[in-house]
Amino acid sequence: MRLTLKKSGPAACAAAVLALIPCAFAQTSGGPFPAWTPGTLDIHHISTGRGNTTFFVLPDGSTLLVDAGAITGGGPRHAPPRPDASRSAGEWIVRYIRHMTGAAELDHAMLTHFHSDHMGQITGSSPQSKSGAYKLSGITEVGEHLRIRKLLDRGWPDYGYPAQLDTTDMANYRAFLKWQSERNGMRVERFVPGRNDQIVLARDPKKYQGFEIRNLAANGEVWTGVGTDTRQHFPPLETVPKSDWPSENMCSAGFRLSYGKFDYYTGGDIPGIPNEGFPEWHDVETPVAKAAGPVEAAVLDHHGYIDSMNAFLVGALRPRAWIFFVWDSAHPTHRVFNRLRSTRLYPGPRDIFANNMHPANKTVISGLEKITGERGHVVLRVAPGGASFRVFLLDDAAETYRVTAIHGPYDCR
Ligand SMILES: [Zn+2]
Repeated sequence: MRLTLKKSGPAACAAAVLALIPCAFAQTSGGPFPAWTPGTLDIHHISTGRGNTTFFVLPDGSTLLVDAGAITGGGPRHAPPRPDASRSAGEWIVRYIRHMTGAAELDHAMLTHFHSDHMGQITGSSPQSKSGAYKLSGITEVGEHLRIRKLLDRGWPDYGYPAQLDTTDMANYRAFLKWQSERNGMRVERFVPGRNDQIVLARDPKKYQGFEIRNLAANGEVWTGVGTDTRQHFPPLETVPKSDWPSENMCSAGFRLSYGKFDYYTGGDIPGIPNEGFPEWHDVETPVAKAAGPVEAAVLDHHGYIDSMNAFLVGALRPRAWIFFVWDSAHPTHRVFNRLRSTRLYPGPRDIFANNMHPANKTVISGLEKITGERGHVVLRVAPGGASFRVFLLDDAAETYRVTAIHGPYDCR
């Protein structure tokens, strides 16, 4: 069963009373986001307009941050920064997390891959850290203000696959890791596909035994679904021309989170439709979707861009809720949007939530204006035990984080 209460307030509640139906959620729509309670899983897709940032409060209260995007943007194709341009994306992220949890540290953080819309972007005007050891943007800015206990990425410790990563952003990021691990107690680990023991409940794992984060893929290595076994999807580099080598997006790290019957997929920017003339193995989505299986909620790969969200992945994941991060007018592209809606790829209803839809894209793609949510922080609140979840949309124009809509509850399968 699904209840949808958009912009419900006193009037909607009065209507519900007259109709003699429960009004359990109306008191929170229009008001502040209700506080997290033990056993609940919250997944906050934070709207900055500057890339991907997802903050998780796990059932035992431990925390996880996946990505901290901070592109510079500013062109007509780019979505506007949220709430506004008066602060950097990293600062907005830190303030959001402090507001929601009061936390001074993060138990886990993870980068899906090394692009600025996922890790930050260093420019001539990026501020220095207090230590002077690195500059602040995206993940380094978050880590400056919220101590990260354990950080996972696809490249540690050598950052040499498929070729040495030696950009300004990477040099700064590695200086951040060095200082934080030597001076501030951060543990850094390479994200290992197949494993389910790298991101765990840090506080009370015994109490919530149906919880798991399974590493699905990174660097083309994909979980088989059996134990911790993996298969390498990419051919040996020496057997292919360098112009065909895997891109940074193809190397993205992704996982499946499970809590009871609730399953959630996030895969970074992996593509599923090779660019014209490129080999079939540039489709990374197909093997990853086989490993993931059906889920309740999924983040669109690569923001729903032209090379992502192939038909197999859409049909295999078949979620009730799709979520995507918009920072460009091509998020999503037209055929991607058609596939998301296609009941030939999978039957039944589904809701689509964007966090910062670009107005130009709504003009170009017919039907896009009718998606379930087009603006705001998209927060999944999963009930204790994982039997159902709701989607809260929070106002991203100010730091009151007012609830603008509540969707669900959706039963988990
Ligand atoms: Zn991206």
